[in-house]
Amino acid sequence: MRQTRTIGVVEQGGLSQRDGQGGSLSPVRRPLCVEATDALADGVFAAVSSRVPPGLLELVSDVRAPSGLIVIGPRASATCRKLSRVNPSLPRIVDFARYEDFVASASAPMPWPDAEGMWAWSLDQWVDGIVAAGADVVFSPSGIIRTGDSKALAAVIDSGNGVKRPQLVTTVAVHQAWLTETYLANLQDEIERSERPVGLVVVGKLDPFEELEVAQGLLDLFDSCPGQIFLHRTDNLAAVHAIVQPGLGASIGVTSSLRHTIPQGRRAQARGSVNRQPAVYVFVPGINEFRDIEEVESWFGDRVPCCAMPECCGRRLNDFSRHADDLDILAVHNVRGWLTILEDLVAHESCDRRGWLYRYFQDVESAYIALRAESNVRSIIPCGSAEVWRRLYNRLS
Ligand SMILES: [Zn+2]
Repeated sequence: MRQTRTIGVVEQGGLSQRDGQGGSLSPVRRPLCVEATDALADGVFAAVSSRVPPGLLELVSDVRAPSGLIVIGPRASATCRKLSRVNPSLPRIVDFARYEDFVASASAPMPWPDAEGMWAWSLDQWVDGIVAAGADVVFSPSGIIRTGDSKALAAVIDSGNGVKRPQLVTTVAVHQAWLTETYLANLQDEIERSERPVGLVVVGKLDPFEELEVAQGLLDLFDSCPGQIFLHRTDNLAAVHAIVQPGLGASIGVTSSLRHTIPQGRRAQARGSVNRQPAVYVFVPGINEFRDIEEVESWFGDRVPCCAMPECCGRRLNDFSRHADDLDILAVHNVRGWLTILEDLVAHESCDRRGWLYRYFQDVESAYIALRAESNVRSIIPCGSAEVWRRLYNRLS
């Protein structure tokens, strides 16, 4: 928790209002709630479930970039309360992730109030209760918005705008199709209308940014709402763009299911994972991607290199079993990998970040050349969204 806080409102600059046909009418300035914005700005947060791996708290506490934990799931508030006792100075954010089990509608953008009147409180009072339990920022309990359901999207934005408490972020959980040409203008219009920072969750069967149009849509969204969108539950590559573009910040899941949110009722899919146990993903420094440890093993056989990140595990990159203790060590290794990169990015002034991105892609390309030489596997290429982000960068530069 940062020691100084500004409570109040600030005006967003440079926004424009659309005329419904995609044209721009006139610049508008909307007050944007500051407290949650201040807590999230340039933030690179680790998204965790109620089980926080040992060592993770120390790791995220000990970085120069604004960082902390976003606790996800039904027990998020109780977990935050415990964390506040262990490490009172660490920023803590609560997300009940109701978009995983509730569909927003125009009349009920969130499960609130329910039919039995169980939620007798107002949303303001609800936020008060969670903040009193130790949270610095609270994500609204919005349901997922069906593709093209503009009225439900508007209701989600309205529900956030109706709250007075400055700690609330309006959660906007959408299927990746919302970021395609058909729906993007509508999404932009509604987010521009938000007086709150928006916690954007992009839901897809696999990594949504493997689709070039979806990744481009995200960049367009950042452009139209600068500094307002916190990209939530994503991976390190999309998070880099959320900082550079600029968005407000990003959270990266400590497990693959916390990095990529899947549609209700479906299990996460991974390439080639049919009929086998879920893959275990390790962050591979240099190429800076999460890779299935079996894939890493296939490159090197019994000569898999060891982790060389300072103060990290020192293990071979395939030496992680599915045992809980191993997965905890892997989680800290993975967070250390991306946190080191994003910490470096955030240390740069906004005007220098595109230059940083250029050097980043150059370094990754060199790392691929070294990896192919070391493993003697010439066919190793950037996977999925890594290749999409590289292509988009080359197109822009
Ligand atoms: Zn390590």
